[in-house]
Amino acid sequence: MTKRGRIILSLSGLLIAAAGLAYAKRDVLLMRAYERAVDKAIGRDVVASLDPKALHVAFCGTGSPLPSRDRAAACTAIFAGGKLFVFDAGEGSGKTLSLMGLPLGKIEGVYLTHLHSDHFEGLGPLALQRWAGTSATTPLALFGPAGTDKIAAGLNLAYQPDSQFRIAHHGPKVVPPSGYGFTATMIQPGVVYDKDGIRITAFAVHHDPVTPAYGYRLDWQGKSVTLSGDTAQSDALVKAAKGTDLLVHEMLNPKLTEIMAQAADRHGQPNRAKIFRDIPGYHSSPEVAGDAATASGAKMLAFSHIVPGAPGPLMRLVIAGADKHYAGPIRAMRDGDLLSITGTGTPQYRNLLD
Ligand SMILES: [Zn+2]
Ligand SMILES: [Zn+2]
Repeated sequence: MTKRGRIILSLSGLLIAAAGLAYAKRDVLLMRAYERAVDKAIGRDVVASLDPKALHVAFCGTGSPLPSRDRAAACTAIFAGGKLFVFDAGEGSGKTLSLMGLPLGKIEGVYLTHLHSDHFEGLGPLALQRWAGTSATTPLALFGPAGTDKIAAGLNLAYQPDSQFRIAHHGPKVVPPSGYGFTATMIQPGVVYDKDGIRITAFAVHHDPVTPAYGYRLDWQGKSVTLSGDTAQSDALVKAAKGTDLLVHEMLNPKLTEIMAQAADRHGQPNRAKIFRDIPGYHSSPEVAGDAATASGAKMLAFSHIVPGAPGPLMRLVIAGADKHYAGPIRAMRDGDLLSITGTGTPQYRNLLD
């Protein structure tokens, strides 16, 4: 054997021995990795990483009622001046918001755009994470259109046994009885929050037969974000979004839902085909959303509540057409995304789940 051959052979032997040792100690190594991951997750301080002068828009649910492995249903959270405002909390969004590391103890309120179930089914898990995770002493405050009181009353009833079990188990200091559940305030279009320089304005949009359905605009220190809610073309939205830094717009691509309807036809599913053909009427196409962004003078257009919520490479197809109607920056949002509006230039982007 050559000298080189002997070196290779002994190096291979060493590698095999090291691999054997790692294999024998695999449980110890896995435990160390677990300890490090837990320490990092529990010690994570997302707020410390946020510019306190910026307006932060967090995408805690970018999906719709159509089931998706990647997208929770409707949820957008805005962090301004140390306070957190949640707009809608669809299924899965409580979990997503918690995983993003945003401070649930700073929630001032949850503002519902309308009472379609994909906008409130995440409220139970969100309330639990806030209550138990931050030892909240007041119920989660809901604001929304007529009927919000029914949602609060129903959830309070449904979660009552769970709350009793948790108080009995962890004690009232950790889960204060006063912090369990929900309160409801019914709101009308107009200013619905005005405190410490933060102003939230509700406006009625077009989502018939769902009435009323609201969009919201939040203003703080000369920066603003406007949320369309679920809506077809709406002049009220264009008016409310005048000059906004960021227009977060719902979107349904009718060409793609028609392909879904045709597939349902072919496979003998007429009821699903009808639903796929009903829904474009009360949502906005990419072109309509683009027009709203242009007409309002919005500085950026972000799509959320995306139908269909196709995986990344297909998203080009889903938002196609918006860029012919709006010349500014356009982004199709993903769960976990954060846009930070600093007041100059395009909002800064990062994802808190990647
Ligand atoms: Zn809706
Ligand atoms: Zn919806």
